[in-house]
Amino acid sequence: MKKQLPLYITLLVFLLSSYFELAAQKKHKALFVIADGIPADLIESLDMPALKEISKQGGYARAHVGGERTGYSETPTISAVGYNSLLTGTWVNKHNVWGNEIEAPNYNYWNIYRLFKAQYPQKKTAIYSTWIDNRTKLIGSDAAAAGNIQPDIIFDGMELDTVNFPHDDFGYFYNVIDDSVINRASASIKKDAPDLSWVYLEYTDEMGHRHGNGDTLTNAVKLLDDKLKRLWDAIVYRQKNFDEEWQLYITTDHGRENNGYHHGGQGERERTTWIATNAGNLNQYFFKGNPGIIDIMPSIAKHLGVKIPREKLMEVDGISLTGEVSATDADVQRNGNKLYITWKPVDKTGMTKIWVTTTNNFKKGGEDAYKLVTVVPVSDGKTMIDVKNMPSDFYKVVIELPYNFLNRWIIPEAP
Ligand SMILES: [Zn+2]
Repeated sequence: MKKQLPLYITLLVFLLSSYFELAAQKKHKALFVIADGIPADLIESLDMPALKEISKQGGYARAHVGGERTGYSETPTISAVGYNSLLTGTWVNKHNVWGNEIEAPNYNYWNIYRLFKAQYPQKKTAIYSTWIDNRTKLIGSDAAAAGNIQPDIIFDGMELDTVNFPHDDFGYFYNVIDDSVINRASASIKKDAPDLSWVYLEYTDEMGHRHGNGDTLTNAVKLLDDKLKRLWDAIVYRQKNFDEEWQLYITTDHGRENNGYHHGGQGERERTTWIATNAGNLNQYFFKGNPGIIDIMPSIAKHLGVKIPREKLMEVDGISLTGEVSATDADVQRNGNKLYITWKPVDKTGMTKIWVTTTNNFKKGGEDAYKLVTVVPVSDGKTMIDVKNMPSDFYKVVIELPYNFLNRWIIPEAP
């Protein structure tokens, strides 16, 4: 005979399961902010209460741009190059945006907007940015090869609007523009709550270029904090009044030369950046590894439930800053017919599959026939493979781990 549970237990179970069901149904939203050209040492030297408040929920860490210095993925520390590294989760050897002219982006490396829209066409995206190219060329709304992805909510192009934003000799109008970007973004987040959005702020970089290190640049960074406060208030408002869970990532696209004026090279201060986020569940790699601007895309994808198709995931250079990670810091060295492959295990459980191909058809929109060459425990951290049956001067090596992928290229040696 079936035993009847006391009524209060039945009720309790019902209430608890409803609660967890609701919690599981929270709508996930992501916002990333690029505040242009702020060296890590500078932002860390200032009292930034809003940034502190946001980081308290998640974390703050130093990060990097610039790819691998002197390696095949070395990437100029230039603005649009950095934005596109964030958007695509790849370095310049793949996304091919080498400068602010954005001459020939390789749209085969899909950006987060495209990945998101492919899976969730009904969900809303937004961009709030003075610079129109961020939308038309990087997200690619004006490019058929990029899928003509047009964000649903657009506030941009203020750099061209000299009526509402008259230019002055000191570049202060960039602060006025940034303020209006923030005000518009905050209002839009409160009202429309786009699922994926990008806020771009330019004033800090302008002050660096014009004045170098000193009070003007420092003050521009201090002003950023109040802007972040307005954005954060909008997110807090949404989370309080709606069943939503927001992840906010704030970063910069490059540091600056030691004198604070310019950037573009591989100097340590130019390469050193930072990431602040309210994201919970940040992993050891975020806090103790060497995260890069490329890691923000896969982190956002994870939060938004974007399943990056396998062949695309095999090309993404970044790994998620939240949740489980099996290994980081892959390397491959060639010596004759031997490839020496290494990785740094984080979670040592499970097996590592090593895939190799000698083609790079993906770059042109095609497919690569990867060969599974060996399977070894993650905990080994290394393996050696013989490629004498796959003679080539180019190899793509993909390390498939239980929780993430890593990839490396071997390129022809310089003559
Ligand atoms: Zn920049």
